[in-house]
Parts: sequence; C-alpha cells; structure tokens
Amino acid sequence: MRMSRRLLLSSLAAALAPHRARAADMSVIVIGAGLAGLAAAQHLQAAGARVTVLEARDRIGGRIHTARLWSGLPVDLGASWIHGTTGNPLTNLADAAGARRLETSYDAAMLLDADGRAVDPDLTRAERLIARAIKAANQRETDISVRAAVQALPDWQAMGPADRRLVDHVINSTLEQEYGGAAQALSAWYGDAAEVFDGPDVLFPDGFDQLTARLAQGLDIRLGAQVTAIAPGEVRVNGSHMTAQHILCTLPLGVLQAEPALFTRPLARDRQAAIATLGMGLLNKCWLRFDRVVWPDDVDWIEWLGPQPGVWAEWVSLARTAKQPVLLGFNAADQADAIEALDDRATQAAAHDALRAMFGNSFPAPIAAQITRWRADPFARGSYSFNATGSTPRMRRALAGRDWDGALWFAGEATAPDYFGTAHGALISGTTAARAMLAA
Ligand SMILES: Cc1cc2nc3c(=O)[nH]c(=O)nc-3n(C[C@H](O)[C@H](O)[C@H](O)COP(=O)(O)OP(=O)(O)OC[C@H]3O[C@@H](n4cnc5c(N)ncnc54)[C@H](O)[C@@H]3O)c2cc1C
Repeated sequence: MRMSRRLLLSSLAAALAPHRARAADMSVIVIGAGLAGLAAAQHLQAAGARVTVLEARDRIGGRIHTARLWSGLPVDLGASWIHGTTGNPLTNLADAAGARRLETSYDAAMLLDADGRAVDPDLTRAERLIARAIKAANQRETDISVRAAVQALPDWQAMGPADRRLVDHVINSTLEQEYGGAAQALSAWYGDAAEVFDGPDVLFPDGFDQLTARLAQGLDIRLGAQVTAIAPGEVRVNGSHMTAQHILCTLPLGVLQAEPALFTRPLARDRQAAIATLGMGLLNKCWLRFDRVVWPDDVDWIEWLGPQPGVWAEWVSLARTAKQPVLLGFNAADQADAIEALDDRATQAAAHDALRAMFGNSFPAPIAAQITRWRADPFARGSYSFNATGSTPRMRRALAGRDWDGALWFAGEATAPDYFGTAHGALISGTTAARAMLAA
C-alpha cells in the first residue's frame, strides 16, 4: 500500500518525537548536498536541530545530476535507476515527489558479436566458472582479486580465446559495470557483497533530480560553499569559518582519499584504514541523441563483444521504454579511465565507430552527445565505492558513524555496509547517521 505524502510526513514526525527535546539546542553542519547529506539534514531538522548544509557545487544532488540541455529530454549524468523498487526507501521518496517512472528489463536484451551479428552463446558456463573461482578464493588464507581468482582456475587455463572472451564479457557486464572496479582490483571475497532489493529497476524520464529537489525542501542549503578545512566544531568555507556542535561529513570516498589534509586532526585509525583500502570505482556515461531510431526498438540493453573487452560493451536504448531515439553507452573501471582521457569529439567518434561495427557502416552519427568524466570531477573523484582486494564489510562500518568524540560524523554511499555504491545506500546512510547523532 502506498502512503500519501501527508501520512509519510506525519509518521516521520511521530518517529522523531522522542528526540525533539534533546535536538532543540543541537546545531549541525552537513557537508555535501547529495542524497546522504539531504536525507540526514531532513531527519535532523525534523527532530528540531538547527541544520546548515554546505555544498561546493552550484547545484544540489551530487552524484544525482539531471542535465536539461536537450529540450524535452532530461538526461541523468549520475544515477539513473532505482535498483529494486520493493522496500527501497527511494520508492517512497519518488512517490512523495510524484516522479514518473519507467521500467527497464535485463530480459529485453541483445548480444552482438564483434561484427554485429546477434549471438546467443551459453553464458552460464562463464558464470559458473566465475562462481567457482570466487568459491575457491574464499578457501584461501588471504583475499585476492576476482581476476587472479579466475586465472588460478585450471579450467581458465585450458580455455580457448573465444571462451575466455565470454568470461571477460561476463566479468565486465556483471561486476565491473556494476561496481566500477576493475577485475584485477575487485576483492574476490567481498567484491560482489552488496545486498539488493527485490522488484524491477525503474528510471526517471523526467529526471532523478525530482527526488533530490523534494528532499531539499525547507532546508538551509548554501551552494558554492566549498569546505577547505574541517576541525572539531568548525569548518572553513570560502575563506571564513562556520561553527556548529556537530559536523556531518558526506564527502565521497574519492574526495576523502584525495584530500586527507581537509581534516585538521587525525581520524580514527580504522577509519583511515578504510579510506585507504576501499576502492573508488568509475562508471562513465555517453548519451547520444539521434534523429530517429535506427536500431532494434524492442530491447532495453544492447551488449557488444567488441575487439577490446569492456570497451563500449554495454548500451541502454530508450527506444522501447521512453520512445526516444537515444542510446546511452557505458564504460566502467579501467576502460572508463582510459576513455575519460579523450576529449568529447574523440569519445563521440569512438562511440560512433562502435555503433557502426555493431549495426553497419551506414549507422548515422548522433546529432548531440553528453559525456561524463566522474574521475576528473573534483567533488566526486570517481563514480562510487567498491570493495577492493583486502576490503571487508567491517571497513564500511568503520567509515560510518562518529569521530573526534562525537564532534564529527560520517555518512555517504561508501559508509553503507549492505548497499554501498548506490543511491539508496546513500539515502539509508544519511538517515542512519542522523538517527545515531540524535541518539548519542
Ligand atoms: C555515473 C553514475 C551512475 C550511477 N548509477 C546509479 C544507479 O543507476 N542507481 C543507483 O542506485 N546508484 C547509482 N549511482 C550511485 C549514486 O549516484 C551514488 O551512490 C549516490 O548518489 C551518492 O550519494 P552521496 O550523498 O553519498 O554522495 P554525493 O552525491 O557525491 O554527495 C556528496 C556531496 O558533497 C559535495 N562536496 C564534495 N566536496 C565538497 C567540499 N569540499 N565542500 C562541500 N561540498 C563538497 C559534492 O559536490 C556532493 O554534492 C551512480 C553514480 C554514478 C556517478
């Protein structure tokens, strides 16, 4: 049963009532206006705390970023999907925002070989091999990478190039694209450890940012406010200082890794170890708009076994769901890093070359493109976190929660032990941190 927006808000207020007395004189600076920061700020403010959100960009949302450059066709440069709608807190938020959703299906998919022939190879053999490799790695004393685990199997060594190519494709499409980490960096023990919600995957034809806009309502958010130093009870922002009893840091893992000097005092040792060991993955998007649909219009996913594994291997078509002549090409992990170094023109040309190999030489050039570079983004430094070799679920818990005797708190997708790397993980981490702050 769906809750109405009013019911949702009144039940939130009721849940927070016991904290209200204590939160009344509590002041909090939230760093970051992504899903984690916004969710935490709403929760804290609803409990009576005085909350200010500081956001370095000139927009809210962080890794939720809907671009409205194409008239009548918003495109999501960050997250697109609610992965698994059942029990997912994003579903309630989308209902409250009145956001239209479209379902995509992995069953509506086609696989093309290097020359563009539709093929239907038995991928279960490759999947079984990867599962066996991970099982064998779990028997070892120390963690190894997914790639090393696969290569250690006698079956892999006995395989011919065509079968190995299929294994590489499955590794890319199910692990590298999912987690953003390269197979040679992903932990065999915990690389695929994220929990999932049941239900279909849905995307937002009118933009994911409807959800962040809804979540931002009524909050004091300062845009263009880049925090350059964090001390107990104080942050430096745009050359001046702001104080509060508590600081909640939702900076992405990539930023924490790149800028340890942001913190004026050492962080807890296990938090530092988590920051150093967890991986910051990469998934980049290349949105291409055409005059008309000149590819099969009955599929959502188009996979390509091209000459280089993982390069332009995954595409989403909006032809079936949104009736739009739009293709979205993905590159992940090391391939994404390599392509990110190209300029827009070269990236678009490479994407067009791939499409010509897939669908024939006469495949038209796109009329417009939008290309992401999440690694180069100074306020993200990657797309989402993954469990690199040596990471454990404990590290996510060590990254979450309090430091400096409760003056500093952490949230963000990387702190979500079960749902890291996702939009719902970010949302859950924000409410979890806010609850812990109110309870402390
Ligand atoms: C390309 C891509 C595709 C994705 N696809 C999906 C998907 O389909 N489904 C899904 O569930 N998830 C997806 N994700 C993951 C999801 O978008 C993220 O996990 C989630 O949005 C992270 O939210 P957050 O609040 O933890 O971090 P962020 O959204 O990154 O928020 C952190 C905020 O801190 C700000 N900030 C950084 N430095 C400073 C500073 N010094 N001072 C002040 N502010 C600062 C940033 O600008 C940002 O707004 C995708 C991500 C990407 C990049």
